[in-house]
Amino acid sequence: MKRRTFIKNTSLTALGLSALGMLDSYSKYFVLGNDLKVNGQRIVNRITELSKYGMDEQGHGYRVAFTRGDIEGRAWFMEQMRGAGLEPIIDAAGNIVGKRMGKNPSLKPIAFGSHIDMVPDGGNYDGPLGSISALEVIELLNENKMMTEHPLEVIIFSNEEGGTIGSMAMAGGLTKEGLQQKSQSGLTMAEGIKAIGGNPDRIESCVRKKGDLYAWLELHIEQGGILEKENLQIGVVEGIVGIVHWEVMVEGFANHAGTTPMNMRQDALLASAQFIIAVNEVINAVKGNQVGTIGKIGLTPNAYNVVPGKVVMGLEIRDLSADKIEMLFREIEKRAASIATKSKTTISFKRQANESKPALTDKTLQQAINASAKALGFSTKFMQSGAGHDSQEIAAIAPVAMIFVPSVGGISHSYKEFTKAVDVSNGANVLLHTILAIDKHKG
Ligand SMILES: [Zn+2]
Repeated sequence: MKRRTFIKNTSLTALGLSALGMLDSYSKYFVLGNDLKVNGQRIVNRITELSKYGMDEQGHGYRVAFTRGDIEGRAWFMEQMRGAGLEPIIDAAGNIVGKRMGKNPSLKPIAFGSHIDMVPDGGNYDGPLGSISALEVIELLNENKMMTEHPLEVIIFSNEEGGTIGSMAMAGGLTKEGLQQKSQSGLTMAEGIKAIGGNPDRIESCVRKKGDLYAWLELHIEQGGILEKENLQIGVVEGIVGIVHWEVMVEGFANHAGTTPMNMRQDALLASAQFIIAVNEVINAVKGNQVGTIGKIGLTPNAYNVVPGKVVMGLEIRDLSADKIEMLFREIEKRAASIATKSKTTISFKRQANESKPALTDKTLQQAINASAKALGFSTKFMQSGAGHDSQEIAAIAPVAMIFVPSVGGISHSYKEFTKAVDVSNGANVLLHTILAIDKHKG
């Protein structure tokens, strides 16, 4: 659907912060400050309240971007922001932005938040957790009359689930063609953005330049089952995987299944079966978290009495390293060539245009999250995100980081999506303390 901008990791280290000895002084800060805790019940209540917008009679959610549920949910969220003293504005891409002043207005803002739109029949945590926890951070600072050095920005990105549209626009990557694409709501992106109060004709006015934000932090549910399985509390995200798709075509010869002897066949499906196993072997032969899948297959003529003549498959590879994806694909190509020769078929690959490049999170911010979590007594794991997020887009213009909390049963993009209240609080506390810690490290 779109090509994501290649992410060159802009690190805080590059901004010279490691020279300030920030890692050392984290510990000092935590001794003084870690008794400050979010109001977990308030977050859970708000997640429940937001879930009512777009919910049908069966209790399933339909807060798809640009639909009524989304529009009403956004209005509710902005009302909550006003209650917390933020004066939310809607930028040209329909992103909701609320600012809180810092002691030092010359400093760049620390931004955090997520999205509140969902996939059809989606869950109540994917997006709302990070959005409502961002609001909770503001509430808590207000209640404790705390002023940060940096200005703070709560950002709720528009249409995350439909292709990270709002964050892509903010990073300068939403093109005129992109605005004309149809969204899940049936409206084009441009029409949808208008429907939620944005201005697609002035889309460039929402663009932030590299260096405009001090950092972007996003708390999110894991959407997988690793943290739960390993009984861990906090995931420190190292990056968001790149995804590449290939259409694989295997061509043999369709012939009579009764009269064609076994040794005279050019069976495209048999070759495909060997190819599918080869893909699995290649992906498993290398250490790491890479995944490779044949998730799609179609054959012709698809009949009992005909040797299959042609098979078209979908191959997907995901990893944090673009080079590794290329290396794995070259291995798969080699195996395909040998299978084709032996089976008297041809195997060809067509790379699809919708690939997304891996986005790495900032190493210094990863350390800040890990230190905050440890100081609060939580177990942590450095891990990758197999799903796409707004942070992936923002990584092009700012140092970004993500905090993961466990998803029960690893279920997401489903009305069964659930994260326990204790994990909700844990994640929000790590978000709060990470913000306070990085705020202290630049005067
Ligand atoms: Zn999400």
